[in-house]
Amino acid sequence: MTEIKKTVGPIIIIALFMGISSLIFILRSKTPDVFSFFILLVILSSFTTETIITDLIALLITLIGLIGMSFSDVPGRIILVIEIASIWFIVWILLLFTDRIKYQQASNNRELKDIETEIENTKKELASNKNKLEKISVRISQYKNLTAATKEIVKVANLQELKEKLLVIIKQILNSDNARLITFLPTDDRPPDIFDAWVVKKQSSLLIQNTLRDYRFDYSKIPNTVKSVIAIPMLYNKNIIGIIRLDSDKENRFSQEDMSIISILVNVAEMTIENFSLLEKTKELSIIDGLTGVYVRKFFDERLQDEITRASRFKKTVCLALSDIDHFKNFNDTYGHQQGDEALKRFSQVLKRICRETDIICRYGGEEFSIIFPETTKDECMGIAEDLRIEFGKEIINGQHITVSMGISSFPEDAVDHNQLIRKADERLYKAKSTGRNRVIWKE
Ligand code: GH3
Ligand code: MG
Ligand code: MG
Repeated sequence: MTEIKKTVGPIIIIALFMGISSLIFILRSKTPDVFSFFILLVILSSFTTETIITDLIALLITLIGLIGMSFSDVPGRIILVIEIASIWFIVWILLLFTDRIKYQQASNNRELKDIETEIENTKKELASNKNKLEKISVRISQYKNLTAATKEIVKVANLQELKEKLLVIIKQILNSDNARLITFLPTDDRPPDIFDAWVVKKQSSLLIQNTLRDYRFDYSKIPNTVKSVIAIPMLYNKNIIGIIRLDSDKENRFSQEDMSIISILVNVAEMTIENFSLLEKTKELSIIDGLTGVYVRKFFDERLQDEITRASRFKKTVCLALSDIDHFKNFNDTYGHQQGDEALKRFSQVLKRICRETDIICRYGGEEFSIIFPETTKDECMGIAEDLRIEFGKEIINGQHITVSMGISSFPEDAVDHNQLIRKADERLYKAKSTGRNRVIWKE
């Protein structure tokens, strides 16, 4: 609107001036009337032009024009009107230009201010980006370490090694000295606290950035040096077997990203534990007899040699018992193989019940079982074998009682090596059979 006034204002003034001058010229009015027109002109011009300097110029030019007109003749007055109109035109052009320049300047100033604000914003953004970049580069190096760490973790051979490695890695990656792993085992260095209890109850991870602002816990039970916490459960078969804990005396020491990194490590550790168990299971599968759950012959051979080596080194005795179920073929033929299998299972159960933890029970083949008794005298071994025979005789399988015969030999009394020891026990087992079965023989 102002712009329109500035442009149109002087044109109106010129038109008015020329109109009034022509009117005076035609009517040849006296000065007082002209003066009243002049006042009208000034008022009009101040309405339209808005600037005091324009008003003054308008006033001056009009005044000169009016004075000049009262002294001139007709041609002179025409020339004067044209002259004043020309001066007005020039002034108008000048004003127009000045306005344009001023307008341009104002617009330039505005643009400058905008640019300054933009620069300021860009600077701020740059600073924040720098900060972000630093954080990102820390994360990148953490993730790089993570890749190396993952390879390290899967290489470990047992749980203890895994626990130690995990702690070293977490401390390194998060640059934290307060990492610890608790396992709820009797060997733990401390009992679980409220944070661990929370993790166990919720079965999920916990991140406390600032204990002063987290109202989930009763911190009176926690040392006030603990300001931020990460606690991540380690699972095996859906059971919590340990918790990775990081405490810090600084607020906001740990972030969501830190938690993600540790979670990745914990996942790798969980997979490693699973692999251990699988390995153990596979190993077990190859040494355990599927039907009876006792060791297989291959394992027996290895263990007997080991036990004899140990016994001779420590000057101890080791005994061996070979057992064979009596008339088993008959039993099978009469009651079927399934019942035969049941009898074998039942005998192995009796063996497991009567023998001690340290005794090694094996299925020697078919319905023959062998038992290694480490650090056991022949008398002790005879006692156990007698118990076995009696206890198995009490079992009822398919309404029947079955008996077992056994031969016993002892190292170093009866043999110099494992082969001779087996042979001796076998000979005595044969003797037990030939002398009526359902008995234990320990000498010639
Ligand atoms: P003895 O009193 O002289 O030992 O007579 P026996 O009938 O037991 O004689 P032998 O040792 O020749 O027979 C062993 C039988 O054991 C033969 C076989 O049918 C049976 N047997 C071997 N392994 C298994 C098994 O895994 N399951 C079943 N049901 N029977 C088996
Ligand atoms: Mg046999
Ligand atoms: Mg038999």
